[in-house]
Amino acid sequence: MADTAVTIELEHLTKTYAGVAAPAVDDVSMTIPAGELVVFLGPSGCGKTTTMKMINRLIEPTSGVIRIGGEDVLGTDPVELRRRIGYVIQSIGLFPHMTIADNIASVPKMLGWPKARITGRVEELLTLVGLDPATFARRFPRQLSGGQQQRVGVARALAADPPVLLMDEPFGATDPITRLRLQREFRRLQQDLGKTVIFVTHDFDEALVLGDRIAVLAERSRIAQYAAPLALLANPADDYVRSFTGNSTHVRLLGILTADTAADPGVIGHGAEPELTTAATLRDVTELLLAGHATVAVLDQTGTRLGGADFTTVRRAVAAAQAQARPAEETDADADSDADADSVSDTEIPA
Ligand code: ADP
Ligand code: MG
Repeated sequence: MADTAVTIELEHLTKTYAGVAAPAVDDVSMTIPAGELVVFLGPSGCGKTTTMKMINRLIEPTSGVIRIGGEDVLGTDPVELRRRIGYVIQSIGLFPHMTIADNIASVPKMLGWPKARITGRVEELLTLVGLDPATFARRFPRQLSGGQQQRVGVARALAADPPVLLMDEPFGATDPITRLRLQREFRRLQQDLGKTVIFVTHDFDEALVLGDRIAVLAERSRIAQYAAPLALLANPADDYVRSFTGNSTHVRLLGILTADTAADPGVIGHGAEPELTTAATLRDVTELLLAGHATVAVLDQTGTRLGGADFTTVRRAVAAAQAQARPAEETDADADSDADADSVSDTEIPA
């Protein structure tokens, strides 16, 4: 499926709403690389939704150019365009009178897929997002929890296998625990699917967990910084970006580094040792260590133990990532980064 990934290019994109003097989005240019998940991070009202809705033409730009896979979006039939762009929003927008299966099938039906293919696709997608088809296909949206409905929203957006997904604060309406679970599930899913995804959020932690790159947006969607999570953490461009990244760099790093970065074959487990796969993050490792386990086993996909992780190896992994992400002229501040890393075990880890 990943072979369908496409690049999205925005060139001098501007939107001025009728009757409003100042533009809501002002001269935004950026490239979203094929197959990557790019987060638009910014405060409420900065123009994130407006920017996103111009890409699937739910809002018409005042000026500028949008290209998807090299094709000029503004010269395409909007209905045809939206079939190639999955869209997930905070309010989910499931059709309440339709079953889960029919909700997911809505675009394939519109496209005239044969019945058997639709049925197969619905089952495949429900399984993909962790919902048992036998249990959920015939239910109605109101019979599902918020988190389950969000999973259906994602499944529906994926139904016709669009190369592009636009997600506008999709997990915002769920409780913090469900939200964390959805983020992790979606990260794993995206690693397999390789879609080009734009994901809007105002939550920096969410941006760190999900983003291949993060665009920190200021007023009128001005791009304050556009960089990979580690680069953003290590080198915030200005005070505005710093207001998102804060000072607790190492805590943030825990949420994005994977468990294998702290796996050391020399760390031997004693007795009942909890196990994590390489898809887990250092935050997952730290939570288990804080719960009282001396070591955590990190397993590869085949179940083989890559090594053990403990507070020392976690600190080492975080310090290494910080050093790597720093520009060359600053890497001699190693003592500093060690001091930072040493406080990891004492730091409260958000759930
Ligand atoms: P965000 O998604 O970042 O919260 P929006 O893109 O929704 O921001 O809004 C950006 C700005 O445009 C805000 O000042 C908002 O009030 C304004 N705006 C949004 N939609 C409209 C509209 N239909 N007409 C006029 N102004 C709008
Ligand atoms: Mg919005």
